[in-house]
Parts: sequence; C-alpha cells; structure tokens
Amino acid sequence: MTSVIDITALHKRYGRQTALHSLDMQVQPGTIYGLIGPNGAGKTTTLRTLVDVIRPTSGSVRVLGEDPRRGGATLRRRIGYVPGELRLEGRVTGHRMLDFYSHVSGPVARGTVDELADRLGVDLSRPVRSLSKGNKQKVGLIQAFMHRPELLILDEPTSGLDPLMQREFQAMVREARDAGQTVLLSSHVLSEIQQTADEVAVLANGRIVAQGDVASLRLGSVRRVRVELEETDAADVRRVFSEITGVEALEVAPLDSILQLSATMQGAIDPLIKALARFTVHDLTIEEPDLEESVLRLYGATEAQEEGAR
Ligand code: ATP
Repeated sequence: MTSVIDITALHKRYGRQTALHSLDMQVQPGTIYGLIGPNGAGKTTTLRTLVDVIRPTSGSVRVLGEDPRRGGATLRRRIGYVPGELRLEGRVTGHRMLDFYSHVSGPVARGTVDELADRLGVDLSRPVRSLSKGNKQKVGLIQAFMHRPELLILDEPTSGLDPLMQREFQAMVREARDAGQTVLLSSHVLSEIQQTADEVAVLANGRIVAQGDVASLRLGSVRRVRVELEETDAADVRRVFSEITGVEALEVAPLDSILQLSATMQGAIDPLIKALARFTVHDLTIEEPDLEESVLRLYGATEAQEEGAR
C-alpha cells in the first residue's frame, strides 16, 4: 500500500537551531495519524513542510505521491489544511470567505457548508474578524473539511474549542476516516490523540521518540492520584497502598481527622480502586496523564538505550 504521507530523513534548521532531526514518518491511507509532543517539539514545522509553507533543509517529503514543492494548486486541492495559528481578520462574512475558498479548493457539495456550520454551531453571516477565537477556528475547520479532501492536515485543530465542540470535531474526523479520507493531526493534549488516532508519533526536541498504535505506546499509563480517606492509621494506609503494583512516589499525610494520600500510578488503575474500597473515601482525584511526563519517560528511555548502545 502506498503511503499518503512519506517523510524520509527530514531535517529542518532555522539558522543555528535544528527544529527537526532526520525525521521518518509514514501515514497510511484511510487512517487517523496523531502527531503529539510538548511545545516546541517540531509538530508545526513538520506539518508546514507537507503543505510547502516551509521547505526542508534536507530529506524527502511525499504527499499523495507528490513532492509538495512541485504539486502546486492541483495537490493543494486534494488537501484540507488548518494552520496552527489561524488568522482571520477580514471584514467579509464567514459565508463569503468560505465561498472564496471553495473556488480555490474545488467544488463543495450543496449544503455541506451549512451542515458543518450547524454541527459546529458557528454563525457564518457575521464578519470573520468579529468572531471569537473558537468560532474562527470553526470557520478554519469548515474550510478544511468542506471539499472532502483526500487528506486532512490539522495543526492543533481543537485549540479554542469547548469540550462539546471538541467531541463534535472528533466525530467529524472519524467520519472522514470512515469515508476513506486520511487525517494527520497534531496536538499537545494526550487524551485528544488517544481518543481519535489509530497511529501516533511522539515528537520531542525534533525527534520521534515513539511511534506506533495508540494502545502499544501506553502513553497514558502514568497518572497522578490524590485521595482523602476518613482514616487515621497512616502506617496501615501506607502499607496497603505501597503493595499495589505501579504505585510510586507515595505520600501519606494526616490532616485533622483525615489522611491525605498522593501517588503516581503506572498501569492498570483497578487494583488501586479495589484497595480504596476498603476505606471511607472523602475525596478522589485521578489526573489525566501528563504529556510532558509521559514523553520524558519515553525520551529518557530512548536516551538511556542510546547511551547503552554507545
Ligand atoms: P507548539 O506546540 O508550541 O506549536 P511545535 O511542536 O509545533 O510547538 P514548532 O513550532 O515546529 O514546534 O517549533 C520547533 C522548534 O523550531 C522550536 O524550537 C521553535 O522555536 C523553532 N522554530 C519554529 N519556527 C521557527 C522560525 N520561523 N524561526 C526560528 N525558529 C523557529
């Protein structure tokens, strides 16, 4: 199967700074591919080279079988793109702007724009510059989706969207995939990628530190847990929780008549829940895995392997 995106040894330098170090990445047709990483990891740089907004220092990039530098308008019509920093400042209404874009991107099926605007809840009769950040982002998404391109390249597509709209967006992405379109999206929010992507690449400092299907990367395995128990026997609580596989950095501190417990939890959460059930739980917070922490663990492991190989 020919890849929709094929990146080989992509290197990008801005002056003295290297933003991408010999990146290899393939995206297969009909999949949702998530590019994830902390700020400054190189996500935007990677996506921009795919639409020829910036040019590689070296390496090769093929998009839908073409070199983006030579594909021109014909290639661009086959792609829907949402840039990371979307600027919509015109006096024109959303409708007029999208109508203009449809002349550039190619035909849009009747009713599609209104249908997408309804789904996302944006008023296209208003001048785009008067729209809020989130609503501008919705116009950007409509622009990318409306001509049902073969490939969607979406840079931080949910920035500014409220949680309800984020879910609507995720549904749109899945429908696009189910209709045979290919989606490449970037995010620095782990849960967003986990909920939508089939495959993931984790970028850190311009290098891919992990790549694979979402489940196998087990990125979400480290959570921070905070519990308040109506219990006074700190030694007993400490003993119970320190025996649970995956619990680390356990701290137990008394506060009035309760015990405050905090820990990191790696792997399955069920043993912790079962252990908690023995006590009277006053409060419980399980924080979403932190991307920086997960990436650091991966990155740390990679560095260690490289060190070992030297
Ligand atoms: P974010 O999530 O913050 O948008 P990112 O993963 O998209 O980050 P990039 O914007 O691709 O990261 O930036 C990668 C690196 O390249 C960063 O260190 C950034 O400072 C640098 N960089 C990006 N664009 C330029 C530029 N035009 N000139 C100089 N350095 C740049």
